[in-house]
Amino acid sequence: MPSTTTLRPLLRATHRANVMGTQVALAAAVAGIGAYAWYWRSSNTNKPDKPIFSSFGFHTLRLDSTELINHNTKKLRFELPDASKPSGLSLTSALLTISFPNGRWLPVLRPYTPVNDLNEPGYIELMVKLYPNGKQSTHLHSLKPGDTLTFAPIKELAWTPNKHEHVALIAGGAGITPMYQLARGILHNPDDRTRVTLVWGVNTDEDIFLKNEFAALEKLHPGRFRAVYVVVTPGAGSPHQKGFVTRQLLEKAGLAASEAQNRDIKVLVCGPPAMEKALKGKKGGGVLAELGYRPDQVYSF
Ligand SMILES: Cc1cc2nc3c(=O)[nH]c(=O)nc-3n(C[C@H](O)[C@H](O)[C@H](O)COP(=O)(O)OP(=O)(O)OC[C@H]3O[C@@H](n4cnc5c(N)ncnc54)[C@H](O)[C@@H]3O)c2cc1C
Repeated sequence: MPSTTTLRPLLRATHRANVMGTQVALAAAVAGIGAYAWYWRSSNTNKPDKPIFSSFGFHTLRLDSTELINHNTKKLRFELPDASKPSGLSLTSALLTISFPNGRWLPVLRPYTPVNDLNEPGYIELMVKLYPNGKQSTHLHSLKPGDTLTFAPIKELAWTPNKHEHVALIAGGAGITPMYQLARGILHNPDDRTRVTLVWGVNTDEDIFLKNEFAALEKLHPGRFRAVYVVVTPGAGSPHQKGFVTRQLLEKAGLAASEAQNRDIKVLVCGPPAMEKALKGKKGGGVLAELGYRPDQVYSF
């Protein structure tokens, strides 16, 4: 059986299709999805006792409820078919969503990251930022309780507790969701002693969500978890520093590779293309290289 990680190149293809907007790449991705669906259908129907997303397969879930959590982000809670079982997703995972919004004949495929505790049974929760004219985010924001959506699991970085002493999570905008999944997964695991530093860049104070959740994690794990926010246009009286995720900001956050606390560190990045380019350069270089990180120390969701 091929591992679910085999979907990752397909995801990259659909993501590139998204960015490039080429129908050719999208058609190739669709053909790939069809082949995977056909290949896995029988194996999934034969394993009714396994959590639904513990192996690759397409599953349609019913939307239970929605909640607007800031000016442009909605939390969507989907029911799992067996209320007594968790999703079967492991740290770190995303779900590929598949839809045909507004009668399109080509499907729209986009990954989203469940933000609920992966061990919780019965449901998954997504936090979806609405992009103006965004094909999938507009569709997801239009869904009402009782509507359905089709998902397939995608394995991202396979997290091994204590493999690294320290992990730096650098997020931009909606790129916070994989970071939240990982930070919570690490800190809720009593056997995992990894230290976690989160740096999250957003445009305005109103873009920040999950703030209470991160504050609770900081309180529960003092000295082990720290969240640093940086806002491009902070409001008057904002508690957050102003600016972008720059070399100076990361140094100030204690994330220069030369610091003793970063002898054994993994750096994870998830953000808009401009931010990823600034951090990782085009072909080498970039802020993370300037800070002393080797390419093998850096992972992009
Ligand atoms: C592994 C992974 C996990 C993800 N998890 C989440 C998640 O949990 N929640 C979430 O909201 N999103 C998440 N995303 C992003 C998501 O997959 C979509 O890319 C996003 O919702 C936009 O899709 P769309 O179809 O609405 O927009 P599109 O129709 O593809 O694009 C519409 C417009 O929005 C702009 N745009 C699209 N994506 C971005 C971006 N990331 N930053 C800035 N501008 C952009 C485009 O340039 C275009 O102008 C994740 C992405 C990856 C790769």
